[in-house]
Amino acid sequence: MRKIVIMGAGESGIGAALLAKQKGLDVFVSEKGIILDHFKAELDNAQIPYESGRHTEGVILGASEIIKSPGIPDTIALLKVARDKKIPVISEIEFASRYVDFRSIIAITGSNGKTTTTSLIYHILKTAKKDVAVGGNIGKSFARLLAEEPEHDFYVLELSSFQLDGIKKFRPFIAILLNITPDHLDRYDNKMRNYVAAKFRITMNQTEDDILISNADDYEMKQFMKQNIIEANEWAINTHFDSPILRGRFDMTKSSLKGPHNYFNASCAIAAAIVAGCADDKIQLGLETFTNAPHRLEFIKNIKNTDYINDSKATNVDSVFWALKSMTQPVVLIIGGIDKGNDYKQIERLVREKVKAVVCLGLDNSKLLAFFNPIVKNIEEAKSMQEAVTIAAKYTEGGDVVLLSPACSSFDLFKNYEDRGEQFKQVVLSLKD
Ligand code: ADP
Repeated sequence: MRKIVIMGAGESGIGAALLAKQKGLDVFVSEKGIILDHFKAELDNAQIPYESGRHTEGVILGASEIIKSPGIPDTIALLKVARDKKIPVISEIEFASRYVDFRSIIAITGSNGKTTTTSLIYHILKTAKKDVAVGGNIGKSFARLLAEEPEHDFYVLELSSFQLDGIKKFRPFIAILLNITPDHLDRYDNKMRNYVAAKFRITMNQTEDDILISNADDYEMKQFMKQNIIEANEWAINTHFDSPILRGRFDMTKSSLKGPHNYFNASCAIAAAIVAGCADDKIQLGLETFTNAPHRLEFIKNIKNTDYINDSKATNVDSVFWALKSMTQPVVLIIGGIDKGNDYKQIERLVREKVKAVVCLGLDNSKLLAFFNPIVKNIEEAKSMQEAVTIAAKYTEGGDVVLLSPACSSFDLFKNYEDRGEQFKQVVLSLKD
């Protein structure tokens, strides 16, 4: 019997294990760290053998196929040996896609906007009474969805570049590639070229019968497409919400999604919904009833005529660019954390135009201080959210906005971006009006 070894026991590894077991395969799970109790319980229940605290080489190299979780870099020594031994290494989405009709797959990737667009497509399809499930990089892994809810007409999947790295035949009927801006370059030899190629893998098995919804204004995408043939039927959406097909047909002003980047996300979602056979009135209703996940330009409260907005999920410079672009009032910006090799030049013009004060919230703010010092008058540092919000409030006058949009990851002072956003919310809600 074929022996599947799954490396990594997070949501994707557990999903793959459950699906493999259900399909009658011989499966073993190997996790180098600790397996969470609720995941252990699932493995025990399904009688799936596993190890934690190590990857036993003999077991892993005895596999006929390895399913690698996205968190494990391709470059670890054990995987090199496996490849030398010609053991195929695939990702969980590749594995899962073997058990589903490709025409049910709507897959979304990009550097920014994945979660927003994925959730919006799901919401619109639901509103249109389609039989649809959502997962991938958010919520349930694709494999788990197929193990637990196998018969849906549509699976809307958020995919990261790491998940796409391990595909071979994965073919979405509708693929969406939102944008490509620098992120995670540490996993791609610090070469933008490699990261771009990883993102484009979403379309590599598509044929002319499939749809690729792309970004007509994205520099990296345009470059790549000049040099590579894309088989899929391309529907390029421009970032100004005036695609000839969509202009005048849908009204975004009644949606709670704000800002040009969200109009673009919505245009992509609309395009996917049209291809999936949703009627215009249902799509419009979906747009109007959608509420986005928290921490993405989330309005918290108006205090003393100042809006407080939580954009904690903005962990790269491009998302801060779009956040600033969306602001119509003068901005007091809270920014900082762990720098991922950021180049702040992209936001210089918007900062000069809109930002009246900056609070740098991180353990090491040196790079931010060097960038902001010559262009912003008021700059201060903070080491906690309480301190940051208190300083920010000091600079506000009526009609301003305090925007938390960090451009960095959160792990120096917070557990994760959710914790950072929650703390912001708590402090803001405790301010006196
Ligand atoms: P992802 O899942 O790709 O991280 P999210 O929808 O969670 O994307 O949004 C992450 C951050 O990026 C938020 O700060 C959000 O405001 C911003 N953002 C959303 N859509 C876009 C877009 N199309 N281009 C640039 N930034 C975006």
